Amino acid sequence: MSRRNHINQLKRYIEKKQKRLAELEEQEKVYLESCTTTCPTCDGKGMERRMDGAGSMSDEECLTCMGIGAIGPVKCQRCGETIGTEMIGVRRNSMHPCPFCGGYVSFY
Ligand SMILES: [Zn+2]
Ligand SMILES: [Zn+2]
Repeated sequence: MSRRNHINQLKRYIEKKQKRLAELEEQEKVYLESCTTTCPTCDGKGMERRMDGAGSMSDEECLTCMGIGAIGPVKCQRCGETIGTEMIGVRRNSMHPCPFCGGYVSFY
């Protein structure tokens, strides 16, 4: 491959990633704006005491709010049902299973 082709290819790659980054940032912004309920698990701190892998307690990013300190309702992308702020189990489960359709819920 010529050097020039390589440069053009890299440029296209970066443009694509920048577009994806902008999309993700927009999704994050929309979610953060909907987070108006103080996280009941960490009380807004974004951290919680949890057992780490070695079995000792340490401050970890709060699983309920993902470190944000607040939570908001989110619509399941698959079935369209709303995951309310009272549905803590869905948030703390790393699979984020939708209680309505069982699909993975992406919070942002
Ligand atoms: Zn929290
Ligand atoms: Zn669903």
